[in-house]
Amino acid sequence: MILQDLTGDERVLVEAVSRFVEERVRPNVSDLERQGVYPDALVAEMKALGLFGMAVPEPFGGLGLSVPALTAMMEVLSRGWTTLAAYVNSHSTVAYAIASHGTDDQKARYLPGLASGEHRGSLCLTEPSGGSDLQAIRGAVVAQAGGYALTASKTYVTNGAKATLFLTLARLPQAEPGTRPRFGLFLVERSRSGISQTTTFHKTGFGLVDTVQIEMDAVPLTMADLLGGVEGKGFAQLMEVLEIGRIAIAASAVGLAANALSEAKRYAAERRAFGVPINQHQAIQLKLANMATRLVTARLIIREAARIKQSGGRCDMISAMAKMHASDEALAVAHEAVVVHGGAGYVQDYTVERLHREALLYTIGEGTNDINRLVISRRMQGDEEMDYLGLLP
Ligand SMILES: Cc1cc2nc3c(=O)[nH]c(=O)nc-3n(C[C@H](O)[C@H](O)[C@H](O)COP(=O)(O)OP(=O)(O)OC[C@H]3O[C@@H](n4cnc5c(N)ncnc54)[C@H](O)[C@@H]3O)c2cc1C
Repeated sequence: MILQDLTGDERVLVEAVSRFVEERVRPNVSDLERQGVYPDALVAEMKALGLFGMAVPEPFGGLGLSVPALTAMMEVLSRGWTTLAAYVNSHSTVAYAIASHGTDDQKARYLPGLASGEHRGSLCLTEPSGGSDLQAIRGAVVAQAGGYALTASKTYVTNGAKATLFLTLARLPQAEPGTRPRFGLFLVERSRSGISQTTTFHKTGFGLVDTVQIEMDAVPLTMADLLGGVEGKGFAQLMEVLEIGRIAIAASAVGLAANALSEAKRYAAERRAFGVPINQHQAIQLKLANMATRLVTARLIIREAARIKQSGGRCDMISAMAKMHASDEALAVAHEAVVVHGGAGYVQDYTVERLHREALLYTIGEGTNDINRLVISRRMQGDEEMDYLGLLP
């Protein structure tokens, strides 16, 4: 099902990554998680497969995947090991932002390096004072000779320890007193002066994905570092870019759900209770049926969001729905997978214990699910959306 909507070339690519996941990743995940060592060798193989260039157009050395193919890749990676999907998720969002909104110079400067993985991109939106209300961020640039100085604290930065390029949301100098705040997305290279990494967060899951706080203290920037090179477009650019981020994280959540259901189905065939394999008990059969249905509905809504995004249509409502629905369903599937495992579901020898912990993050990242519900509810007022939903006036 995940190969539907893909071109022939894209199918070949996704199948190659699927083989990599089956042969090189899945057999080693438990050991890698237990050892707790960053998987440099696998990341090198991901680079060789072009996975850091999924969202980079071909002329800049990337795979130039369509949105449906990007979602298929995210699902396949995550089905094998969520951690690998996390390595390329926000990185791909950064690449997509530059490809879609960057100047010619910014594309030439960053896209080839992002495609090869030489440049690692991270998203710097959230601040210690809050992540849901991004219009209230404090991080700001002030004008200085030759450009700007950026001062901001950015927290929960995924892959922030490895990143070489931070796509950073910041306030712009006020055009006139009393006017609405304006924002810019800045391409901030780690090598710039004034950047330091402070806290490393110890999380419930994704132990091998670094999540850090980045301090930016009067970092010197120029107009050439402002995405698109025109002031005041940052928030609109971000909202458009987050649509891709939400579709991609939703696909990653579905990959997790597919893994959890596979594990539950296998365990239910092996484990015996009351003289028979537990999958012969109707209560287990009903659970597996519900999990399979959750998986398919989540995949379908992502497919719809990817189709609309690919066609260039307005996509904020459906991408928020896809993110919210897929992550809620993935959490439910992971929970049911633990239940099917009985006591074994609560010990670390079984994959579902980890998946259950990890599933929570998908309901938080790229906007909490309640924030995504607010996006949906706001858009439901529009004529186009009323029509799409088949509502009566
Ligand atoms: C592991 C991890 C990785 C992350 N990676 C990144 C990253 O790479 N880059 C990045 O920028 N951020 C990242 N984040 C941050 C993430 O996007 C934020 O945590 C998330 O957007 C919520 O922001 P917050 O934590 O400040 O919660 P808050 O904004 O403080 O919200 C707290 C609670 O209040 C609710 N709430 C807030 N406002 C409303 C409202 N108006 N109506 C109803 N409910 C509301 C929220 O839904 C939530 O339940 C990451 C977070 C984690 C945990």
